[in-house]
Amino acid sequence: MHSNVLDYALTAPATLEAALHLLASEPGQHIPIAGGTELMVALGAGRLTPKSLISIQHLRELRFITVDETHIHIGSGTTFTDIRRNPDIARDLPLLIQSASWTGSIANQNRGTLGGNICNASPAADTPPALLAYNATVTLVSINGPRTLPYTDFHLGYKRTVLRSDELLHTITIPRAFTGYRQYIRKVGTRNAQAISKIALAALAQLDDNTITDIRLGAASLTDRPTRCTATERALIHQPINEATIKAARGALASETHTIDDIRSTARYRATVAGNLLEEFLRSLTV
Ligand SMILES: Cc1cc2nc3c(=O)[nH]c(=O)nc-3n(C[C@H](O)[C@H](O)[C@H](O)COP(=O)(O)OP(=O)(O)OC[C@H]3O[C@@H](n4cnc5c(N)ncnc54)[C@H](O)[C@@H]3O)c2cc1C
Repeated sequence: MHSNVLDYALTAPATLEAALHLLASEPGQHIPIAGGTELMVALGAGRLTPKSLISIQHLRELRFITVDETHIHIGSGTTFTDIRRNPDIARDLPLLIQSASWTGSIANQNRGTLGGNICNASPAADTPPALLAYNATVTLVSINGPRTLPYTDFHLGYKRTVLRSDELLHTITIPRAFTGYRQYIRKVGTRNAQAISKIALAALAQLDDNTITDIRLGAASLTDRPTRCTATERALIHQPINEATIKAARGALASETHTIDDIRSTARYRATVAGNLLEEFLRSLTV
């Protein structure tokens, strides 16, 4: 059933502080809206409650990219286009640039935000695999102050996160620690553009000679949430790249994940293709 937009209230507080006070004043009664590229679809389909939206799209406090010696800090209101155009992100975090460029169309990228991609908490979202592989942390804010946690702890399940109803995602912080790493990302969907992933893998590895000295793997559409594949990482660390290692890694990936079945693909397809992507990455390390 379609909704009537006139049934919805929209407030646009002038400052972040005012938005946080409004969220805290009536817990659970308001939904923050950033670019609206997820929420307007839900609204149109009659799936959006409660009916009070708090616009945060115009808040300058949430739209920034800053770089210090050790980290890149990205405000949650930063759009995919902002990310794609940023030379510091291009230099240090190429997987994030690639995933931003995959997200929807140019129109989506001009409005859609990194914070919205994360907080929507879809297992198929494009930027989480790169953020997981890059060891991102997230800072959440409420009127009681900020709290920072590893991004790996943010997702609790399908469309469920640790965000409280009085909180906003403020900043995504990523270490500038991956120079010299081999970096890989691949999204498999029904088309090359405008497709939601059936499976996606982001991977980083550091090698000493032929031996893996550090490895990070983030996946989308594999389980009910964006997934860091830690058991597979453990199977690979300090191992030489050879046939036995590749086989063991595929086995670890298959056994650590409860692969999902949904309208976009089957669990069997996803598990097989995830193993293929992992193998493609590992073989690429030998060239
Ligand atoms: C045609 C189309 C194609 C798309 N293709 C892709 C695709 O290929 N890949 C992909 O990953 N996504 C895709 N999307 C989904 C969407 O564009 C992205 O998820 C986008 O990042 C959402 O950001 P937004 O700012 O528009 O979020 P909104 O719609 O404003 O919000 C999404 C959710 O996040 C919450 N939220 C937003 N910001 C914050 C914050 N700072 N703190 C707390 N909660 C917050 C909102 O309350 C809401 O629950 C597509 C959407 C459309 C309509």
